[in-house]
Amino acid sequence: MTLHDQHIHSSFSHDSQEDLKNYLEYAYKLGCKYFITTEHYDLNVISYNQDLTADFKQVALTLTSLQKNYPLIKILLGIELGYRKDQLNKLEKILQSEHFDLINLSIHDCPTADFYYYQFFAQQGEIKLLNEYFDIMIEATTNFNNYNVLSHLDYAFKTVYLVNPTIKISLFEDKIKQIFKNLITNQKAFEVNTKVQEAIKDDNHIKYLLNLYYKLGGRKVTLSSDAHSLSRYLSSFDHYKKIIKQCGFNYLVYYVSQKEYQYFI
Ligand SMILES: [Zn+2]
Ligand SMILES: [Zn+2]
Repeated sequence: MTLHDQHIHSSFSHDSQEDLKNYLEYAYKLGCKYFITTEHYDLNVISYNQDLTADFKQVALTLTSLQKNYPLIKILLGIELGYRKDQLNKLEKILQSEHFDLINLSIHDCPTADFYYYQFFAQQGEIKLLNEYFDIMIEATTNFNNYNVLSHLDYAFKTVYLVNPTIKISLFEDKIKQIFKNLITNQKAFEVNTKVQEAIKDDNHIKYLLNLYYKLGGRKVTLSSDAHSLSRYLSSFDHYKKIIKQCGFNYLVYYVSQKEYQYFI
């Protein structure tokens, strides 16, 4: 069974120009049984001073119409939900507005920082802001339950690491352990995001996270590209699948109607 990519963005997201149909056509030709899109839903982002949200009604309508032309591939609707404690009402509302097959939960920002941009770390302190980032992730995975997969745990770390590669993620091990314990208790999956891994370019980094998660009892892993263009659909999957296997995992998980299924690897 050909693995499908469970984290991609098309032109429905603010930061992608790719036509959704191009991804679908490609996945169909590869023989994928499923296709899913996970557009952005980020509210009141400090560095843009606005919401960065896809029109999910429009996405759903487009998928329904595409499904008619591609009857042999099951087209699913996902979302990348940007967690914000101060926006919980709106987050819950969007999740109720459509039938989502998969919710990827992400920490991209907070009211005082956008973790994509190094300038916030330069201004507020690399270690201090990374501690805040992981604290938000602990808070989110403790108190928020309406999701399936925690996306790119190392998103903010990557921003700092690219400027200061002397910093190692193990510095935050206590907090990461707490996040993993929350995922395990609440039966959520840990995402290996190949976009972040391709930027960090250190297999020991992802092996460290996978081994820690496994040791604590975690078994649910998704492998996702976070593609913003067709050229990155399923990017580096063979490489990271091997690493995931080496770390002891026998399967990857995927979701349909937020129900978990397994791909054996
Ligand atoms: Zn993201
Ligand atoms: Zn994404």
